Amino acid sequence: MKTYPEFPSFFCVDHPLIQHKLTQLRDENCKSFGFRTLLREISLLIGYEISRDLPLTTRRIRTPVAEMEAPTLAVPDPCIVPILRAGLGMAEGLVDLMPTAQVGHIGVYRDHDTKKPVEYLVRLPKNVGQNFFVVDPMLATGNSLAHVCDLLIAHRVDPEKINVMALVAAPEGVRQFVKHHPTIRIYCASLDEKLNEHAYIVPGLGDAGDRLYGTQ
Ligand code: URA
Repeated sequence: MKTYPEFPSFFCVDHPLIQHKLTQLRDENCKSFGFRTLLREISLLIGYEISRDLPLTTRRIRTPVAEMEAPTLAVPDPCIVPILRAGLGMAEGLVDLMPTAQVGHIGVYRDHDTKKPVEYLVRLPKNVGQNFFVVDPMLATGNSLAHVCDLLIAHRVDPEKINVMALVAAPEGVRQFVKHHPTIRIYCASLDEKLNEHAYIVPGLGDAGDRLYGTQ
C-alpha cells in the first residue's frame, strides 16, 4: 500500500488489478453496466486488501479427518455504511466479500445556503461495537465524509473502529477530512491531482452516482 508523509492515516491501495480496473472505470466510454460491475469488483478487491489485519481467534472444529483448533475472525460481522447514492455501488462489493456484514445507510445533501452537509436518512444498527467501513467512491471536499463520521461517533461508534473506503480522493478533501478526524484510516485506489471550481475531482471520473445509475 502506498503511503504519503503529509497524510499518515491515508493509504492508497496500488494493487495492479485495482489500478487496471480503475482506469477502465474512469474512461468516459464506460457505460452504467460496466461502471457498476467494475465498482463492485474494485470495492471487493480494496476490501480484501484492507481486511488483512483483522484480528483472528480460533475455534474448535471437526473436519471429516480430525479435530483442530481453526482460525476464525475475532469480530466476524462488520458494519458497512454506504453514503447515498454512489456508496451503494461500493457496498455491494464489500457485501460480496463479507456476506454476514450489517449495512447501515446514510444520506447526506449539501444545503444550498449554508453549504453545510445535512443528513436526510440515517439507519444504523443498534449494536455499535463492531468495525465500521464507511464507503463513498469520491472523497472530494471531505465535508460529507467528515460529517458522516461525526454522526457515527454521535451514535457511540468508537472512532478507532471506523475505516473509510473511497475510490478516488482529492488532496484538498483528504486535508480537510484529516483536520477533523486525524486518526480515522482512509483507504483509496487513487490520490488524484486536485478539485476543480465545481468541486469535481480532476482527473476523477465525473459524477459517480450518475455514472453508476445512468442518470444526469
Ligand atoms: N462527487 C462525484 O461524484 N464526483 C466528483 O468528482 C466529486 C464529487
